[in-house]
Amino acid sequence: MQLAGRKLKEMLMEKKTELELELIELSCRAKSNLSEMATNVSREHPADYSPPQDISLSLIQVRKKMIAKCQEALERLERGEYGICAYCGCEIPIARLMSVPFTDKCIECKREIEEEDTLYVNGAKRRISKMRRQHNIIF
Ligand SMILES: [Zn+2]
Repeated sequence: MQLAGRKLKEMLMEKKTELELELIELSCRAKSNLSEMATNVSREHPADYSPPQDISLSLIQVRKKMIAKCQEALERLERGEYGICAYCGCEIPIARLMSVPFTDKCIECKREIEEEDTLYVNGAKRRISKMRRQHNIIF
C-alpha cells in the first residue's frame, strides 16, 4: 500500500487541480454565455427551455463536490484511513481506488448510497446534451 499510496496521492492531487481549473473555466463561461444565450432562447421550445445558468451551475456544483471528495481523500490518506470503505469498513480493492481515487466506499456500498448522486449527475448530463442540440453550444 506504501507505493500505491504515493501514486494515489499524486493522482488525487492531479485530479483536484484539473477539477479546479475546470471550475474556473466553467465559472467564466457561465458569466460570458449568459448574456449571449439569453438572446438565443428558442421560442419553439419554451416548455423545454431551462435557463443556461441552471446548467452551468449544475456543472459547477458537480465539480465542487468532486473537489471536496478529492480533498477528503487526501486527508484520509494523511490519516492512514485511506482505502477503507466508510460504510462497511472493508478494504476497497486497489483497482477501484486506481480508477476512482477519491472514493470512500466500496462498489457495493456505492451502489446503494450513491444511486441518488448518479441520477443527479446523469440528469445534468442529459440536460446539457439537450441544450447543446437546441443551441449548438460547443463546450
Ligand atoms: Zn462498503
